[in-house]
Amino acid sequence: MRRLHNSRAERSVSLPAVGTLVNEPAYAGLVNEFGRERVVEAIREQVEAERRGDADGSARQAAVAGRLRSMVAPRLRRVINATGVILHTNLGRAPLSRAAIDALAVGAGYSNLELDLETGKRGERAALVSGLLAALFGSDAALVVNNNAAAVLLALTTLAKGKQVIVSRGQQVEIGGSFRMPDVMRLSGARMVEVGTTNRTRAADYDEAVTPRTAVLLRVHTSNFRVMGFTESASLAELSAVARRHSLLLVDDLGSGAAEPVGDEPTVAESLEHCDVVTFSGDKLLGGPQSGIVLARRVAGVAAVSKMARHPLARALRVDKLTLAALEATLRQRLTGHADDIPVERMLHSPVEDVRRRAAMWSVKLAERGVETNLVEGSSAVGGGSLPEHAVATVLLAITGPASRLSTALRRGDPPVIARIEKDVCCLDPRTVLRGEDETLIDAVEVAARGIAR
Ligand SMILES: *Cc1c(COP(=O)(O)O)cnc(C)c1O
Repeated sequence: MRRLHNSRAERSVSLPAVGTLVNEPAYAGLVNEFGRERVVEAIREQVEAERRGDADGSARQAAVAGRLRSMVAPRLRRVINATGVILHTNLGRAPLSRAAIDALAVGAGYSNLELDLETGKRGERAALVSGLLAALFGSDAALVVNNNAAAVLLALTTLAKGKQVIVSRGQQVEIGGSFRMPDVMRLSGARMVEVGTTNRTRAADYDEAVTPRTAVLLRVHTSNFRVMGFTESASLAELSAVARRHSLLLVDDLGSGAAEPVGDEPTVAESLEHCDVVTFSGDKLLGGPQSGIVLARRVAGVAAVSKMARHPLARALRVDKLTLAALEATLRQRLTGHADDIPVERMLHSPVEDVRRRAAMWSVKLAERGVETNLVEGSSAVGGGSLPEHAVATVLLAITGPASRLSTALRRGDPPVIARIEKDVCCLDPRTVLRGEDETLIDAVEVAARGIAR
């Protein structure tokens, strides 16, 4: 393809050869910066565009420089989340606390990641957080992997490969389009035995499905949906009794891992009380970095977690040092009464009156700059596949003007602001805008609104 284009371009009489152009003094600086080969490639693309009539040759050097600069421009950018969705998967789920961000710098250099400073012997990286997790949740064993999907995969592979896992038909969840329980099960080599129906599964259904080949009873929290109406599901206490009676392990994929009760979300403590192995995400309600946390308190569970830690797959799924550093800082904040410094926690619990004051302040400042807005009652969402029914009361700043054009202009601004369109109005929810971002946001709204008015 490329060859064909080249030869055509080079045959063209009106355009100079790329090989000659690159030697012109005007390109010396770019060659120095990007290397000759990349500059040749950029000139070639530019000349091609000129040949097609998509560009003119009057400012060729500047255009070539532009092509090269955009190639290395940062793709991952900070955005302001004004959507009101606290755990927004497309925006990176939980934003880290200041303390967690500072901890990243410690983790980035040399650290005692796997070195016991007391004895000088090799240490366990999970030991950095297992004490904190124990203090926070009452666990006796902990393992941290890359994410919760990895935690579930590791649990099933280690504890049930070649054996049967009983799971309710009502808990065949798909999370975020890529985590599907039947797929994870297949990958682990465990055989899934489904019991009950979509809306009703009783403890007796599990009991009757047990065979000599059964290894695990799995409970999957239906994080991102709720079945309403004529429903029944076995409680963890009932499942625990079935597991005990048949000497099986009860594994709970908890999803979010709420440290404290929020809405109807099950808590980690309650799960640890009844289940052998409990897994959840570090970047959902916990408010930390992407990670999968595996905990156990019961004797059988502690043995199971230790087996999981020794499995070769644990090495492939292990957590990165930066993640551990941020997780450690987040857990410490929860243990020392500084949970409100964790953005997710603060956003969840900010009183609506605080949100209203902030929206009103934005509105006044924007009015001074000629941007018309008004306040509207609304609700924020937890998001991230958590608490689908749990709406948090909020106050939205509605911007007067064409909603779709405004939200596009905001998204293309610097920094990009991600707004929400509600009832055909472009709205900003202060609940998910981080502390200290107010002035930047107001500037961005002014720029976007002016751009539209022009
Ligand atoms: C979110 C979730 C997962 C996936 O967790 P990740 O940390 O995104 O890998 C698995 N199971 C349940 C029930 C969940 O809610």
